[in-house]
Amino acid sequence: MTMLKNARLVCPDKGVFSGFVEWDKGKIIHVGEGEPEAVQGEVIDAGGLFVSAGFLDMHMHGGFGFDFGSCKDADELREALWLNALDGVTGVMPTHSGVERLTDEVAEKYAFYNEVMKDETGPELLGVHLEGPFFPAELAPGGIEKIPDPTAVKELVEAVPCIKRMTIAPEIPNGLETISVLEDHGVTASLGHGAPDSRTVREAIARGSRQVTHLYSGMKGVYRDAESVRHPGLIELAYLYDELAVELIANGKHLDSDLIRLVFRIKGPDGIFVVTDSHARDISLRGDKTQYVLKKWSEADGKYHFNPAMPIPEMLRVMVKEAQIPLADAVKTVTATPARLLHMENRKGKLAPGYDADIAAWDEDFQVKLSVARGKEIVNQLK
Ligand SMILES: [Zn+2]
Repeated sequence: MTMLKNARLVCPDKGVFSGFVEWDKGKIIHVGEGEPEAVQGEVIDAGGLFVSAGFLDMHMHGGFGFDFGSCKDADELREALWLNALDGVTGVMPTHSGVERLTDEVAEKYAFYNEVMKDETGPELLGVHLEGPFFPAELAPGGIEKIPDPTAVKELVEAVPCIKRMTIAPEIPNGLETISVLEDHGVTASLGHGAPDSRTVREAIARGSRQVTHLYSGMKGVYRDAESVRHPGLIELAYLYDELAVELIANGKHLDSDLIRLVFRIKGPDGIFVVTDSHARDISLRGDKTQYVLKKWSEADGKYHFNPAMPIPEMLRVMVKEAQIPLADAVKTVTATPARLLHMENRKGKLAPGYDADIAAWDEDFQVKLSVARGKEIVNQLK
């Protein structure tokens, strides 16, 4: 049994209050206000640090010198998850591009992902997110249009249970049928890298879509038809439909702080999940600890260009200090809201008895000092 006391607990629906949290065998058993009355087992003094549920990142390609796409076995995958957990990110959805049908290679690649998903302790593999490849050419990274074969997609998701999310442009031929296949198999169809009209988005929602991938990136806003009438693009439709939660790269670089505020004003913290979308710049640079985020594809030199990415705690700093979002609301977008969208709201994303002991403690500068993932201590600078 372990207790973290003298903490400023950040609980999205209750606000920020001083208290303690106690866990045992990977589960939280007690959360209380003020000082604990009786203490058993190990006690850690948080010294007034902020303490919340561990962070969840639903869109991450790589970083810290690894690329999820090139993990060769279960141990490498666990190491990649562990590196994320150093930042308090206790659950990750690795993101891959380019998988469109079941092949022997795909089955082999995902066999160890399926295995790691069964782990019961430590950082959690939340499933795999396939970012595409079913996008129109003008909004596809790399500029190649791919049209889905719904039967092949069905075969893929039936054979590979770790696939839990796919970003898809709903307006692509067979797009809506593919969304039905995904949602019927428990795979979230997230709308993105597309330019659908209102009718198509309404139909996607009717077929079960509930998410939009990196709002503002890889999509268009208001457009004019042949008669010069303006219509909402995917950006405005994401605002309009309460059913859709939006993914936000809240790093102050993709969107400035006023735009972040606008998204919070319209969607609220229940409708936003913040992600890094971080990449390893060059997988040969193993050991390069920096995370990168895609900036743009350059026709001129035929290469992707990258900005340094921000880990989740840094984005919390941007949301709170630059965009003036209340701390508990910002924390919700990296804990309770993604947990709900992952259908894990009964065990993740909250400090509450019976929930996974996923705990992050950080200081005023959002530097993580303690990280615990399903009861396993990843980093502890409080000893
Ligand atoms: Zn991405």
